[in-house]
Parts: sequence; C-alpha cells; structure tokens
Amino acid sequence: MKLELPASCHTPPMRVLVTGAAGFLGSHLSEALVELGHHVTGVDSLITGARENVQNLKPNSRFRLIEHDLSLGLPPEVAEGQFDRIWHLASPASPVGYVKHQVITLKVNALTTVALLELAERCKARIFVASTSECYGDPKEHPQRETYWGHVNPVGMRSMYDESKRFMEAATMVYHRQRGVDTRIVRIFNTYGPRLAVDDGRVVVAFIKQAIYGEPLTVQGDGSQTRSLCYVDDEIRGFIMLMESQPYHLPVNIGNPDEVTVLQLAREIRELVGSKSEIIHTPLPPDDPRQRCPDITLAKNLLQWSPTINRREGLKRTIEFYRHKLKP
Ligand code: UDP
Repeated sequence: MKLELPASCHTPPMRVLVTGAAGFLGSHLSEALVELGHHVTGVDSLITGARENVQNLKPNSRFRLIEHDLSLGLPPEVAEGQFDRIWHLASPASPVGYVKHQVITLKVNALTTVALLELAERCKARIFVASTSECYGDPKEHPQRETYWGHVNPVGMRSMYDESKRFMEAATMVYHRQRGVDTRIVRIFNTYGPRLAVDDGRVVVAFIKQAIYGEPLTVQGDGSQTRSLCYVDDEIRGFIMLMESQPYHLPVNIGNPDEVTVLQLAREIRELVGSKSEIIHTPLPPDDPRQRCPDITLAKNLLQWSPTINRREGLKRTIEFYRHKLKP
C-alpha cells in the first residue's frame, strides 16, 4: 500500500509492534509501516484475522508474525522486546465477532491494554490504541464530536466491546497522566475495503457477497439507520498521521462523515455489482445504533487529515477485490 504521507511520517526506521496484525486494519497498517522502512513484529491469534491477510508480507525480512492469543498475556518475545512504537489493534471488531468471543474481547481491550501501556512505559515507546465510535453508543448528539460522552448500554449485547473500549481509553489517559507514557487514542468509525472478513456480518461485505451470489440483500430493520463509511487507505493514513503528530493525548475521531442509510447502501452496492438481487428486511440486532457520523474537525485541524476516497470509488475497489476472492 502506497500512502501519501506528510514528511513528519517519514521517520528513520523503527522497531514497531502491531497487535492484531493479521486483521483487516492491522494488516493494512503493517503493510504501510513495512513500506515506510520499519521493522514490524505482528501478533495475532487468528480468531478473526487470517494468515492470508499478511501473506504478501511474510517474505519480507522486516515483518514477522507471532501467532498468540493476547488474552492469555503477552508472549515472551513481546514482553521482553524493545519497541519504539506500539499499535494496539487486536480485538474482534464486528458485532458478530465480539458476541462470539465475549471474554477475549473484554480481556484484550482491558487487560492487554494495561499490559501494553506498561510495556510502552518500560520501552519509552509511543503507544497508539484503537478505540471506536461504539464509545458513543446509540448517540444523542449528531454528528459525534470527541467531547460527547456517549449513550452506551453497560450490560447490553455490545457491552463487552463498548465498555472495554471505554476502559481502554480511561487506562490510556491514566498511564499518560500519572506515568508520563506517550499515548495516542483513535476513535475508529465504520471502515471498509479489501480483507474485511467475509463471514462476520459487517454490512458492506455482507451486501457485496449477497449481490455477487445473486442472493437477497438482507437489510436489518427498515434500513433507515445510518453509518458513515471510510475507505481503508484513508483510515490508515489518518492512523499514521496521528501516531506521528505533535503530542495530543485525548481521543481523535478518524472516519468519513459521508453518511448513508443502510437501505441506500444496499441499493448502491447492488447497482455497482450489476446484480438483480432483491432487497429483503430482517430483524434489527439488539442495541443497533440509529445513526453514526463523525465530526472530524479535530482531525482536520490537528493533523490536516481528511478522507480523499469517495464512497463510489471505495466501493468499486472493494467489489473488485471480492469479485476475485469469491468467484461465484
Ligand atoms: N446491517 C444490515 N444487514 C446486514 C449487516 C448489517 O442491514 O447484513 C446493518 C446493521 O443492522 C447496522 C449496519 O448495517 O445498522 C452496520 O452494521 P455492521 O455490522 O457493519 O457494524 P456496526 O456499525 O453495527 O458496528
């Protein structure tokens, strides 16, 4: 992946740790970091990630993958290692994934975050943690600014994810304030692109797969709920710019404010695939947020970052990838 990055991101080679390196975002990030000349140690349990996501990185001597479940603790190569940058992305991240792996989700976002903050303290590394727009829950403020505290069900069917991510943010601020750790927190909004897992139910890939196979597109509820979709290259560029930014430790939204209803998205994907699939309605999952849209004023001002790839272009690139992968 070749990203257009400002000079501040072209640092001398560093020793980098990426947790969740074989996942959707982790693999794209690892690729970009290797491309920038860094030495990347990736850790992934492969419960929701896949070896094939990093197959083009495997032959590179600047990348290694440790297969390990971080909810059991840090592997010795990591616990005793030396790193300049730590990226914590490991976690199931789809509603299907985190409900299936509830205990692991809770542990990697809570316990592993604390373990990595301590590692960052020992190594004097800068650490970036992947938080989420789910911290806003079913928001009462729209679009969502970083100053909004959120509306989350603490015991609901998303709580293993939402609340552990909120703890992740709290822990990161504590280690910054009390221990002086150099931290960055991103709140990630819905992101799509090649390598999203096919069977974890996330909306873009679910619709693309259904359209390619000529199956009905399953719109949950009446489809009037909204999401704002960011293409993966824009998201990863934002991550790296935040990591290498001037010190700023509070959460930063990185996402595309281009908001769309789920029903409109289904229609667009069906058209771009050139499919005759019908659109059907299925029950809405519990605690499904009604609307979600980032306010990205902070990222624009702080990082001079904004997304560049529009939905039509991003969907075309994504459909191209899955046409090849799924071959009906
Ligand atoms: N959705 C849908 N059909 C599907 C999968 C998802 O209508 O086959 C809807 C879902 O109800 C939600 C939105 O699409 O309103 C986004 O769901 P996703 O699982 O991608 O992620 P979320 O944003 O809820 O974390």
